[in-house]
Amino acid sequence: MFDLATLDQDDLHGGSSPWARHARRVPLVHLQQSIRCDVVVVGAGITGALVAEHLTRHGLDVCVVDREQPGLGSTVASTAMLLWEIDKPLREFVISHGFERAAQIYRQSAAAASGLQALISDLKIDCNARANPSLYLSTEENGPRILLEEHELRRRAGLPGEYLDHQAVRSRFGMAREAALMSSGSADVDPVMLSQSLLAVAASRGARLFDGQASDFDASATEASIELDNGKIIAAKWIVLATGYALPDFVRSDLHSLASSWAICTPPQQLSAIWPEDALIWEASESYLYARTTVDRRIIIGGEDETEIVEPNERDALIAVKTERLLAKLQRLRPEAMPVAEFAWAGAFGKTIDSLPMIGRVPGRPRMLGAYGYGGNGITFSFLASRIIGDTINGIDRTDYDAFSFERD
Ligand SMILES: Cc1cc2nc3c(=O)[nH]c(=O)nc-3n(C[C@H](O)[C@H](O)[C@H](O)COP(=O)(O)OP(=O)(O)OC[C@H]3O[C@@H](n4cnc5c(N)ncnc54)[C@H](O)[C@@H]3O)c2cc1C
Repeated sequence: MFDLATLDQDDLHGGSSPWARHARRVPLVHLQQSIRCDVVVVGAGITGALVAEHLTRHGLDVCVVDREQPGLGSTVASTAMLLWEIDKPLREFVISHGFERAAQIYRQSAAAASGLQALISDLKIDCNARANPSLYLSTEENGPRILLEEHELRRRAGLPGEYLDHQAVRSRFGMAREAALMSSGSADVDPVMLSQSLLAVAASRGARLFDGQASDFDASATEASIELDNGKIIAAKWIVLATGYALPDFVRSDLHSLASSWAICTPPQQLSAIWPEDALIWEASESYLYARTTVDRRIIIGGEDETEIVEPNERDALIAVKTERLLAKLQRLRPEAMPVAEFAWAGAFGKTIDSLPMIGRVPGRPRMLGAYGYGGNGITFSFLASRIIGDTINGIDRTDYDAFSFERD
């Protein structure tokens, strides 16, 4: 197994995604002398960008460090469906956590999805954001009975959503499935435009953006610092780790493992090929299919996840085979669509055994906070991470988010 800490952007994804077209070069400064700040954020993907935006909003002196170009790590490989529905259904959380706790976790995720949309709108961020419903489709393993049970639990938890039977799915979406849950509150974006714009907002409030690899992390009870590969030190009151799936060894956890996912994006389609309301589609299945549209009427479809194949060359060698499979699935889902892949890519994907990320204090390192272990809701959870981390730094103890902590049992 390769060293997770050294996963660079070429390891994180292969092939090409449509978002790279809109990436700008973010100016990063090479640090010439050791400095001091309130918070140093390591990693400038969507997680680091959200954290930097939030902390500078609170007037903190923030430095952000990235060893490569911001936004071009896992963020550029994302299909960027901002769902509040978690990879693990509410009914499974009810079994593992009890109803009240499970409902709270789902409501926290829903609040994060709407908080992120409100932030994009407040800051007038140009990232092709659209609010759209999600459509959770039944599969052979999880049919109408299971979806109905899920719907009832969601309703009890105060979450939005409508149960669609076979006929309703067919008449409203032209899709041949036994059932689906349609819910409001989700959105989609261009994730690179979003993360780079958030960094620009943070920089306009005084955040300093540096290039360099943080290789030495020191966080005692009273102070914290990182050392960059050029030997310069950034001392801070807090270190925030937002290095995505590149995990320093001291944050590794038995909860977390790496997987791979593949996705394609078609050329712009005829209007008739686009399904109603540009719904975000995903399946009630372990290795689910997910699909969305874009503002320029393309279709993105992904899935084919593998937990056994994580080595980057092996993963990327499968892009052609997975593309064919995804195109065949697109034809089944939407026969009207032109089954052509203009972009095809593969990406590393983090998973935890309970499908929740690890956010908050890094065990044994008092002045270090981290945000890791994102599955399908990576970006929604990055927003949640920025709020939990912001509150901790501002002295507010968020025990209501214990289900996301590094040390949960
Ligand atoms: C195929 C695919 C589809 C996905 N679809 C979705 C989806 O639809 N919805 C969703 O919400 N999520 C989705 N995700 C997950 C989402 O993309 C990730 O959760 C998210 O992009 C992680 O962002 P990040 O900022 O934490 O990591 P990254 O974007 O990888 O950023 C981390 C940064 O840290 C830097 N770095 C690492 N180590 C160091 C170091 N030691 N020193 C300095 N810099 C360092 C890296 O260079 C990198 O720029 C998907 C992921 C994949 C692969």
